[in-house]
Amino acid sequence: MKRRDFIKGAAGSLALLTLDGQVVDARTVEALPPNALGILYDSTLCVGCNACMSACKDANSMQAELGQGNTIWDKPQDLSSKTLNIIKKFSSGKGVNKDVVEDGYAFIKRQCLHCVDPSCVTACPVSALTKDKESGIVSYNKDACIGCRYCQVACPYNIPKFEWDDPYPEIVKCQLCSHLIAKGGISACCSVCPTGASLFGPVEKLIEETRRRLQMKPGKQYDFPVSSIDSGKSHVFKAPKYVRHVYGREELGGTQVMYMSAVPFEKFGLPTFPKESFVSMASGIQYAIYKGMVYPLVVLAGLVFMVKKNKNAEEQGKTEKKDTVKGDTHE
Ligand code: SF4
Ligand code: SF4
Ligand code: SF4
Repeated sequence: MKRRDFIKGAAGSLALLTLDGQVVDARTVEALPPNALGILYDSTLCVGCNACMSACKDANSMQAELGQGNTIWDKPQDLSSKTLNIIKKFSSGKGVNKDVVEDGYAFIKRQCLHCVDPSCVTACPVSALTKDKESGIVSYNKDACIGCRYCQVACPYNIPKFEWDDPYPEIVKCQLCSHLIAKGGISACCSVCPTGASLFGPVEKLIEETRRRLQMKPGKQYDFPVSSIDSGKSHVFKAPKYVRHVYGREELGGTQVMYMSAVPFEKFGLPTFPKESFVSMASGIQYAIYKGMVYPLVVLAGLVFMVKKNKNAEEQGKTEKKDTVKGDTHE
C-alpha cells in the first residue's frame, strides 16, 4: 500500500478537526441501506447437512481443514482462516429431540452478520474494511490492510480471523459472496441449501418473512421459500414454535444476517446485546469526554461489554454445564 493511500485511509477513519478544534467528521451511526442484502437463517429448517459449508469453501476457494493426523477431511470445529461459514450444534441431555431444549438439539450457522453499524469498519484505521452504501455488504480489501487486527478485537461476534500460518497474512471473513452477487447470483450457501434454512434476499423482504413466520400457527403447514426469497421456489413444512425474537433484528443496531429458532439464542452461545451499536455508545462517550477518540473507544466499549458478558456467562455456565455447542454436526 502506498504511503499516500495509507494516510488517505487513516484520515477517512479519523474524525477531522477544524482550526478551532471542533470535530466536523465524527463517525456517524449507520442505518440499514435501502437496497441491503442479507440472509435469513432459520434453525428449525436446518438439517445439518453441511452443504452450505462445502459450497462456501468452493465458491470462495478456501482450503479444507484436515483433522486427526490429516485423516479426517474438512472437519472444522469453528470459524477459522480457512472456514467462513460453519454449522454448529446445540445439544442438551440425551440430545434426541430436534429444536427443543430438554434432551434436545438444534443447529446454528455462524458467519459474518454484516452488521448495520459494523464495529470492524469503524475500528479499522486504514479503511481496509468497508460497508457498501447500496447493499450494506461488509467487504475486506487485502491491499489496504496493515495487519493490526483491530477489527478482530472490535467485532462483537468474534468473526474476523487472521491467517497466522501464511507469510502474507490476511483477515478472513464472509463477504456475502459479493463476487457472485455482482454477476447476478446469490450467496453460495443459500443457493445449495436444500430446505431453505439459509435464505438469501433483500433485508426488507427477509424482515417481512420473519414477521410472517412469527404469525404462523405451530403444527400447521405453510410454504417456506428456498434459496432466495424471490426464487419462486418453496417447500411445505409444518410451522415450528418459534422463539418470539429474531436475532440480529435489533442487536447492536441490527445485522443483515438474521436468525430464527425454536431454541433460545443464548443456548447457541450467541451473545445478548443491547439495541445500540458500539459505535453509537462510543460516540456518546466521545462527545462527553474527548472529541476525536471514537475509534479506540469503539474497541474499548466492545471489550468492556464482552468482559462483563463473559463474566456473567461464566457464572451462568457453572449452573448449565450439561448443555454443549459443537462445530461438528455429524457426530
Ligand atoms: S459481524 Fe463482526 S466482522 Fe461482521 S460486520 Fe459485524 S463487526 Fe464486522
Ligand atoms: S455468503 Fe458466501 S462467503 Fe458468506 S457464508 Fe455464505 S457462502 Fe460463505
Ligand atoms: S445447507 Fe441448509 S440445511 Fe444443510 S446445513 Fe446448511 S443451512 Fe442447514
